[in-house]
Amino acid sequence: MNMSDHILSEDQRMMRDTVHAYIDDVVAPYIRDNWKKEWSMEPADRVPVEILEKADEIGIRTLGVPEEFGGMELDSATEVQTFALISEEVARGDSGLADKLAQNWKVSVLLRNLAPRHLQEKWFPRLVEDPNFLLAHCLTEPRGASDRWLPHNVPSANMDTKAVLKDGHWVINGRKQFISNGYDASLYVVYANTRPDVGMVHGTSSFLVPRDTPGLSVTKCNETMGCRFMNNGELTFEDMRVPEDHLLVKDEAMGHAGVYFRPGKILQASKNLGVGVAAFEKTAEYVQNYVQGGAPLIKHQAVAIRLADMATRIDAIRAFINYAARAVDERVGDADKLCNMLKYHTSEEIMKVCKDALELHGGTGVMLEAGIEKLFRDAAIFMHMDATVDISRFKVIKAMFPDTAGTYADPK
Ligand SMILES: Cc1cc2nc3c(=O)[nH]c(=O)nc-3n(C[C@H](O)[C@H](O)[C@H](O)COP(=O)(O)OP(=O)(O)OC[C@H]3O[C@@H](n4cnc5c(N)ncnc54)[C@H](O)[C@@H]3O)c2cc1C
Repeated sequence: MNMSDHILSEDQRMMRDTVHAYIDDVVAPYIRDNWKKEWSMEPADRVPVEILEKADEIGIRTLGVPEEFGGMELDSATEVQTFALISEEVARGDSGLADKLAQNWKVSVLLRNLAPRHLQEKWFPRLVEDPNFLLAHCLTEPRGASDRWLPHNVPSANMDTKAVLKDGHWVINGRKQFISNGYDASLYVVYANTRPDVGMVHGTSSFLVPRDTPGLSVTKCNETMGCRFMNNGELTFEDMRVPEDHLLVKDEAMGHAGVYFRPGKILQASKNLGVGVAAFEKTAEYVQNYVQGGAPLIKHQAVAIRLADMATRIDAIRAFINYAARAVDERVGDADKLCNMLKYHTSEEIMKVCKDALELHGGTGVMLEAGIEKLFRDAAIFMHMDATVDISRFKVIKAMFPDTAGTYADPK
């Protein structure tokens, strides 16, 4: 047994092995045989429903949904560690699919913690019943997300999306961009300004918004360079009327979003790791079979050195993920700092792993049908999800030195 098995419980090992088989038997063959689908400009067609139905059969589609509503509840003591384990495996098959599923897990955790009981009773069973049911979390706006991540807590940096209570409904106007699952979700969590006089920490509220809410339009599916099997979308709200009881958190929503973002950053890193593992596995096979200069590539010292670097980065990141995920599960004081460190460091390390994979494959590495450049493209996306690398670095320093750190915003 190697170390990555050794630290898992028997339940976690079984779950990991089940997901591993699902990826090898269902997902990887689909991606390999249908690589052109990635470039289909019909977003709805890219991932067949059977892939999600199979995910359902092995119980990973409804993670985070309480058992009383038919979901698959994980042991709360190790929930985030198990999320990490499973999402790494799924992303080893395809990071877009992992995004689709992980978004449902994270938003389910948020709803479990913040949604009133009657909304949980209504929406969780629908999610459980329908394999195509996706959830989305809408924060980013055209004016940028970095100020929100910092957060730059002054009225001038507040969200442009505004919500006003009128005749028993919240009337919401605004626009959201770059939203994971935004194109095809059935249910959205939407953040909007409800107090223009104060900064976003005390003036942002969150709402649960069904897709068919009058005034909501899904305006676009973004054609991204990577993670293309997840449909990233744009939304506009024009006098969108949300019933008063669909409010999740009034004014203080940013502070409460930690239940989403802490597991979220672990999931970003573990999906990112899965992309690196796929790059390593394909490269390890290639260098042991492809002969150049009279010997399989692995016999060339420069190749061995690169392969060792790839493997070392992967194991170091996996150890860091375990450490940070444990901090989140056990609610340790520096969990936030570790999550931000982990998210940006992983994105940079796995980018290097995928670059080595590309180089070791030579010309083959850039051919679409070989699938190596896909991993490079998928890896590039992670630097920009859940805050950029630089903004994450600022958050690390703000967490470590709250009294002396800068605001790192509004440099005028
Ligand atoms: C594939 C994908 C999926 C996503 N999914 C979601 C989602 O589900 N929900 C959601 O709400 N958002 C989502 N996002 C948005 C994501 O969180 C933002 O793209 C990210 O936080 C960066 O924000 P921005 O794109 O607006 O960049 P900007 O904020 O415009 O930043 C542009 C550049 O300026 C730099 N910068 C900005 N401000 C500062 C500063 N104060 N100091 C120094 N440098 C600065 C940034 O580091 C970056 O390099 C997603 C993005 C992608 C790419």
